Amino acid sequence: MSQDNRGFNLEKVRADFPLLTRDIRGVPLVYLDNAASTLKPIHVIDRLQQYYRNETSNVHRGAHYLSSQGTVAYEASRETVRRFVNAKSIHEIIFTRGTTEAVNLVAQSWGRANFKEGDEIILTELEHHSNIVPWQMITSEKGCKIKVIPVNDIGELEFDKYLELLSPKTKMVSMSSCSNTLGTVTDVSKYIEAAHRVGAKVMIDAAQSAPQFPTDVQKLDCDFLAFSGHKVFGPYGIGALFGKEELLESMPPYQGGGSMISEVTWEKTTWAAVPQKFEAGTPAISGALGLEAALSYIMDLGFDAIIAHEHDLLEYATRELKEIPGLRVVGEAKNKAAILSFVIDGAHPSDIGSIIDQQGVAVRAGHHCCQPLMKRLGLPATVRASFSIYNTRGEVDILKQSLIKAKEFF
Ligand code: PMP
Repeated sequence: MSQDNRGFNLEKVRADFPLLTRDIRGVPLVYLDNAASTLKPIHVIDRLQQYYRNETSNVHRGAHYLSSQGTVAYEASRETVRRFVNAKSIHEIIFTRGTTEAVNLVAQSWGRANFKEGDEIILTELEHHSNIVPWQMITSEKGCKIKVIPVNDIGELEFDKYLELLSPKTKMVSMSSCSNTLGTVTDVSKYIEAAHRVGAKVMIDAAQSAPQFPTDVQKLDCDFLAFSGHKVFGPYGIGALFGKEELLESMPPYQGGGSMISEVTWEKTTWAAVPQKFEAGTPAISGALGLEAALSYIMDLGFDAIIAHEHDLLEYATRELKEIPGLRVVGEAKNKAAILSFVIDGAHPSDIGSIIDQQGVAVRAGHHCCQPLMKRLGLPATVRASFSIYNTRGEVDILKQSLIKAKEFF
């Protein structure tokens, strides 16, 4: 596994991730829960250490050296996020706690200001709860209706049905570019184009696509897009929201507090310009610096190498696992990211997860925060193996063997 034929140095990549050297239950860790959180490369860990050892200070306020250096570094991280998603300006990048907070921000700020009774919001059957519940909260308050794009039996969205749902009543379409449960990759650009034709705005949940393929908000022409740091090799508690500048300018703040104001009097408060207007309170400074290190790491590796490696793993894993009698792959879209959900006849997914955990194999089992999708599939849960840049074909073999062993228990 030293050097594969695309010049992607897998051994070197693996050496960047200290947790991969850890034994779990006496055997080497096989980490296949990357759709939940990726592991962290040494570059990110070092950046966090460096900040806490040598640079700790609050940003934007202090008159002293450390604070002004911290502010420069924090804003430089914003520039790296801008570059990662190819936004026009750093004014379009808001640091959030992650995708969930970003969706809540748009729902509570843009939604509260723009939705009125009778309006419609379109979501998809593939969505994670974090791209459902925030919309339910605001639409139930405003008397709007949620419509849902159905998914077909192999896990692809039905574009024709989407076109039928769209109307001048549609105010927002919010959808993921990659399903965390089935791995389905949706060509969101045609959904965005169609939404814009009826005057609707579009939010893209890029939580799963951000670590797997390039994000280009200008090419997509989406209005909002969100991703989470912990799924792109970065720290917890940080993520980003992209929003078109004119939209962010027009939106009321999501939270009030320090840093987001221009002037406060007892009579009236005025807001700071974007992006500060949406970053009330002390931000996750170390998180932003760690995120910068993570995104730089990804961009240095390059998406061509990442896509080729993960595609190879997905194809290999799909082929190998299908050889196990009674195993059924759930979600076989033509365009898939390296996420493999499956069920095994007569075995509950969480039992499978616990049994293979005994062999050091980390997967996820459950509804993956997609209960409406599970209902559509007629399943209570699946086992999900999700792959990343540091996984190997050898680890797929270990997964397969551990599943064969687990089957003996049922
Ligand atoms: N959307 C998708 C597709 C996800 O996979 C996740 C995380 N599993 C989220 C949103 C929520 O991300 P976070 O918990 O980091 O806010």
